[in-house]
Amino acid sequence: MQDQIDVAAELISKSRHLIALTGSGISAESGIPTFRGKDGLWNKYRPEELATFDAFIRNPRIVWEWYSWRINLILNAKPNPAHITLAELEHMGILKRLVTQNVDDLHERAGSKKIIKLHGDILVTRCISCDYKSRLKAPPNEIPPKCPKCGNLLRPGVVWFGESLPSHAISEALKESKNADVMLVIGTSGVVYPAGYLPIAVKENKGSIIEVNTEETMITRYVDVFLQGKAGEILPQILKTLQNL
Ligand code: NAD
Ligand code: ZN
Repeated sequence: MQDQIDVAAELISKSRHLIALTGSGISAESGIPTFRGKDGLWNKYRPEELATFDAFIRNPRIVWEWYSWRINLILNAKPNPAHITLAELEHMGILKRLVTQNVDDLHERAGSKKIIKLHGDILVTRCISCDYKSRLKAPPNEIPPKCPKCGNLLRPGVVWFGESLPSHAISEALKESKNADVMLVIGTSGVVYPAGYLPIAVKENKGSIIEVNTEETMITRYVDVFLQGKAGEILPQILKTLQNL
């Protein structure tokens, strides 16, 4: 494994434009369950029953109960060494951009600044009919919560299955991927599109990919370095190796 970490550190040290793509696996060690993979949430719940607009309209109470539970978990979670390492790499001027599919705020709390959030923010609620928006400090008291401006339903500020990504976020992420010579892909199954296309865009533009995941994924077969293991253990090892080069 150290051999592979050496290769990864070498690639990073020589990079001109290093970016990272993270998925829910990076927050797993902070106690936030992933959707897929071992211990994934979807082993207990079906995504189409909870994370779609139709499901929300059919049963806003159940969907909000699930989101309230996740909001609570996230508010009580702490960034782990993987989030912290990415923030340090940015601070050192090595990591240029961080693209995340996560809806939690652990990258922000670890100190990362140059973040592109592809799938929205679970701590934001917005009205389904007017422009009302607010930031949550706790799960809503009343479930489902209602808009104080127009009385309609408030929804979580995340991108659900079947919905489009914020257009500025995906176009920025695509631009960054085309410009990247190295991408770190951490804790993502790579099956959710268009985020799953970003590593392909890196490869199409002759960039290299370093993947960190506990399991092989859709991406593994075309990466340059596959580091199998927990993000919270591997990322600090990469940083240490980089510092000793
Ligand atoms: P995913 O659930 O599809 O895949 C998670 C991946 O993480 C799997 O490949 C798994 O093997 C890997 N993994 C699990 N533990 C790991 C660890 N300790 N270290 C490294 N890898 C680990 O997640 P995804 O690819 O992000 O896509 C699904 C969607 O899930 C995204 O749209 C995202 O918005 C949403 N989601 C977000 C959160 C969050 O914000 N924390 C949590 C759950 C789901
Ligand atoms: Zn409203």
